[in-house]
Amino acid sequence: MIRKLLRKVFKRPATPARHEPAILPVERHGIRREQLSPAARKVCAVLQEKGFKAFVVGGAVRDLLIGQPPKDYDVATSATPEEVRAAFRRSRIIGRRFKIVHVMSGPETIEVSTFRASQDAESTDTDEHGRVLRDNVFGNQQEDATRRDFTVNALYYDPGTETIVDYHHGVADIQQKTLRVIGDPRTRYREDPVRMLRAVRLAAKLGLAIDPAARQPIREMGPLLENVPAARLFDEMLKLLFSGHSMKCLQQLRGEGLHHGLLPLLDVILEQPMGERFVTLALENTDERVREDKSVSPGFLFSTLLWHEVLKTWDKKKAGGDHSQPALFEAMDEVLDAQAGKLAITRRIAGDIKDIWAMQPRFDKRTGKAAYRVIEQPRYRAGWDFLRLRAQAGEIPMEIVDWWDDFAHAGHDEREALLRQAPPEAAPAAKKRRRRKRKPAGENATPADDAVVDPS
Ligand code: ATP
Ligand code: MG
Repeated sequence: MIRKLLRKVFKRPATPARHEPAILPVERHGIRREQLSPAARKVCAVLQEKGFKAFVVGGAVRDLLIGQPPKDYDVATSATPEEVRAAFRRSRIIGRRFKIVHVMSGPETIEVSTFRASQDAESTDTDEHGRVLRDNVFGNQQEDATRRDFTVNALYYDPGTETIVDYHHGVADIQQKTLRVIGDPRTRYREDPVRMLRAVRLAAKLGLAIDPAARQPIREMGPLLENVPAARLFDEMLKLLFSGHSMKCLQQLRGEGLHHGLLPLLDVILEQPMGERFVTLALENTDERVREDKSVSPGFLFSTLLWHEVLKTWDKKKAGGDHSQPALFEAMDEVLDAQAGKLAITRRIAGDIKDIWAMQPRFDKRTGKAAYRVIEQPRYRAGWDFLRLRAQAGEIPMEIVDWWDDFAHAGHDEREALLRQAPPEAAPAAKKRRRRKRKPAGENATPADDAVVDPS
């Protein structure tokens, strides 16, 4: 409060001095308008025809410069949301505090936002740690550039002239493979601690080095992530895990000390030697799918990341005399609850996770009706994929996985034959007594199996 007042009295300029941007012609950057999606071009063209400024901005320009295909397109414009809405029949305004417009064109949705003013301390609401709570003032293009996070994200491409408007030397930074924060990194992280996670994700995804001035404060400022709402953190974690470079991102998070004590999930993932092979396989699998443009499911990924926690908790309960099935359900809830405080796993995703976990013991029952019921499960395929991952990690024999695949794809007579061949169900865990060492997982046994043994 007092600092704000002093700043007002002494009229310290809150934003850096105004400077003219570089206007880079196509010879300098090489991006032709044909490389953009048709929808992005059209949105800019329509707005420009109506006399507004309109540019493709952010990740798409950056990715094109680096030579990666853009994930989606954002457009920044001088038009207000209402003016954008009026220009496109298939569009809708979303967001209440700061409105943006989704413009639908063919199969694409383009996110169009009005130039925003930068977040200066005088005009912005912050919490007691300096985190910006409201960021809802329209501004001009120069201000819009200054409020963006990294220089490489503040590039404005005009499809009409094929020029890039570059206020913060972002093109040079891309050429030098550097991720640089716009403004003072400490101030920018304080305003929005998620920028630290974005730095790590973008550096890993794009093969950029984080500029030392931006990197150095991260270790010390990491705890500010504790004040970020859980839902926002969850969104950011999804982006990180589905970036196609999840292993690299997580290693880098660990390298920057960002995982420790901040995100319980990351503590679990990075510090469970027993489940490491399983988690590594799951992440590699996800990275591969993302890069091949195949669908990925958050429920599946989180179920793999947390599985060894469930196994550990489940096993403790069984060792304490609980029945296997209720013990599993209690363990599932406990593990998910432990995440809930920091990471708001949505209810739907939590449902998917539980379905996958709950199916696992049912794969042990290769008898008549029970087996038929398993393959009729709506989430059977995800459950089976999970089972396969367990086998690949050496937790169970691959024979079970193959058997279920044969069973699911066989005709009636073949199924009956498979059921006759199936070995009897694994002996249930001792109920009232301390559990002995878990049945060895065949010749594939690895340290991962030890994770299910009560260490006490
Ligand atoms: P990708 O879409 O590949 O994950 P992106 O940089 O496009 O990366 P978005 O979340 O789509 O990420 O954001 C679009 C743009 O909005 C960014 O390029 C950046 O200019 C700006 N931006 C996003 N998040 C922030 C933030 N926390 N602080 C400041 N600017 C941000
Ligand atoms: Mg984007």
